[in-house]
Amino acid sequence: MNLIKLKSRAKINLSIDVLGKREDGYHFVEMIMQTIDLYDTLTINILDEDVIKINTNSLDIPIDEENIVYKATKLIKDSFGIKNGVEIYIDKKIPVAGGMAGGSSNAAATLVGLNKIFDLKLDDEKLKELGLKLGADVPFCIVGGTFLAQNIGEKLTKIEPLTDKVHILVCKPELFVSTKEVYEGLDLSNLENRPDNKYLIGCLENNDISSLSSNMKNVLESVTSKKYSEIDDIKNIMKKNDCLGCMMSGSGPTVFGIFDCEKLAKNAKEELLKKYNQVFLINSSDKGVDILNG
Ligand code: ATP
Repeated sequence: MNLIKLKSRAKINLSIDVLGKREDGYHFVEMIMQTIDLYDTLTINILDEDVIKINTNSLDIPIDEENIVYKATKLIKDSFGIKNGVEIYIDKKIPVAGGMAGGSSNAAATLVGLNKIFDLKLDDEKLKELGLKLGADVPFCIVGGTFLAQNIGEKLTKIEPLTDKVHILVCKPELFVSTKEVYEGLDLSNLENRPDNKYLIGCLENNDISSLSSNMKNVLESVTSKKYSEIDDIKNIMKKNDCLGCMMSGSGPTVFGIFDCEKLAKNAKEELLKKYNQVFLINSSDKGVDILNG
C-alpha cells in the first residue's frame, strides 16, 4: 500500500474544569470530550526520497516543520528508522485555532495512517503513548468517542456516548484566540462557571440530553467571552432559536449548541450565516480517525 486516505475528526468539549497548574505551565483539567463528524481529510503518500512534504488547501496553517503533521511524521520516521519519504495533503475543514483540536486530530490521523502504511503493527495504547509526545489531546483524538479526560487531558475514561440523534450547530467567529493567553487569564483561586462532571456523566448514562445541555459549563468561557462579545452574540442567537444548551468549546472562540429539533437548528444556522462564515450543522461521532481505503 503506497497511498492512504483518512478522516481526521474534530472534538467539542461538553465541559471543562481546571483543577490546578503544573510547574511546566500545563494545567490539570477535568473535561468531557466528544468527537463530532466535522473532519479534515488527510492523504498520505510514500516517497522514495527521504523528505517530509506537507501540502494543504488552508492558508491558516504552516506547511513546514511547524505543522504538527510534520512533527508526527518525523516522530514515526525517527522512532522506527524509516528511510522512505512521506507526502501528506491536508484538506482542511475544521476551523483553525478554534478550540476543536484540529491540529491534534491531524497528528492522530498521521500516526494511525503511518502505522498502517508502514505496517508497524502498533496497538492503540502504543499509538496513544506516541501521540502524547505531540500534545495532550492527541491520545483522545486517536480513539475518539466520548471520554472524561483528566490530568493534562491524556488520562482517559470512556463514558456513555452522546447520542448521534441530536443536532450540533458549530459556529467559529473570525477571531484568533491564544489558548495560552486564555489559561493565563484564569484566576485559579476564584473560578467561575465550574461544571459538575459527575452529574453530566449521569445525564449521558440516562440519555437525558436536555439536562446535559443546560448544565454544560466551561471555566475558560468567561475569560474569552469577557474579551470578545462574539461568544455571547452566537450563544444568544442559538438560545433565541431554542437550543437545549450552548457553550464555548476549548479555549474558544468556537461556540456550539445542541438542538433536539433539526428545523430549529437550521433556523439558527441561517441566522448565524448572516454574520459568520464558518457555521456547521453536524452530528456527534463515536470515532476519532477513519481509514477511508484499505
Ligand atoms: P485545541 O482545541 O487543541 O486547543 P485548536 O483547535 O484551538 O486546538 P488548532 O486548530 O489545532 O487549534 O491550531 C492551533 C495552532 O496550531 C494554529 O496556530 C496552527 O497554525 C497550528 N497548526 C500546526 N499544524 C496544524 C494543523 N495540521 N492543523 C491545524 N493547526 C495547525
